Amino acid sequence: MTKDDRSPVTVADYASQALVANLLSQEFPNDPLVGEEDSTGLRSQQAHPTLEQVTRFVSHMVPHASDQSVCRWIDQGNASPAERFWTLDPIDGTKGFLRNDQYAVALALIVNGQVQIGVLGCPNLTEARHSEMGGEGSLVLAVRGEGAWTTSLASPAEYKQLKVSTYIHPSQARLLRSFESGHTNVSQIDEFAQALGVQVEPVRMDSQAKYALLASGQGDLLLRLLSPSKPDYREKIWDQAAGSLIVEEAGGHISDLHGKALDFSVGRTLANNRGILASNGHLHEPALHTLQAIGA
Ligand code: AMP
Ligand code: MG
Repeated sequence: MTKDDRSPVTVADYASQALVANLLSQEFPNDPLVGEEDSTGLRSQQAHPTLEQVTRFVSHMVPHASDQSVCRWIDQGNASPAERFWTLDPIDGTKGFLRNDQYAVALALIVNGQVQIGVLGCPNLTEARHSEMGGEGSLVLAVRGEGAWTTSLASPAEYKQLKVSTYIHPSQARLLRSFESGHTNVSQIDEFAQALGVQVEPVRMDSQAKYALLASGQGDLLLRLLSPSKPDYREKIWDQAAGSLIVEEAGGHISDLHGKALDFSVGRTLANNRGILASNGHLHEPALHTLQAIGA
């Protein structure tokens, strides 16, 4: 279906939010959830066949699920940010998911405006490093102060620690950018790459899977520039929270395009920040200077 902002939403987005919300409410009944989806679009007569499909998928894991309980679980995500809360993007990169490409299930715990736990489920990413459709997938997670780690999504066993790259020369930098041109500013990325002296073509990828690549040293700079069609766009917290902690705990750095720390304490968006710059740490200062020089 298409949401009010003209972005797509699928049976999988709804089923994922229902499942995660249901599990969270069992484990942490007092914690609010701020999720991307709500059930409004599923409650009309016209959407009934879609709701039935969502319920069918959810009931694979929760056998007693009904249309009503599924809508109720999805709407647990309507809570407001509080001192302590979870934020969920049940499918980050829905356009990538629909293209059979990269997407992620992104969950984070935020306490006093700081991300404390970040988790990414990336079904089409192997060892948090490379794209492999229908492979083992990667579970990537970070706990503040305890590093960033990955294991197989299909058969979680041994965890491997993630570290960002050690590249210090901008010429070597591998840029990570949105696959969707409408989510970024493509000509400004080219301008940035040229001004910084980057020699390699940027990597285009959907979703926070890009943060997994940065954390595993498979990329060096991640840019979220503002698209010319939405110059006032503010990032949604569920699109950045999990990935930001994973990058920091792998030894990288993340800020907005002006170098300001991300502020997760002001609601459903990063209203106090403009765009995103994430890096392996070494390349952060040169990248900020270049962004300033090109007026990004
Ligand atoms: P990505 O796959 O990196 O492009 O990120 C996907 C996310 O970008 C979606 O979940 C949206 O919330 C977000 N998004 C949608 N429109 C825009 C926009 N115009 N500028 C920046 N981000 C956007
Ligand atoms: Mg989403």
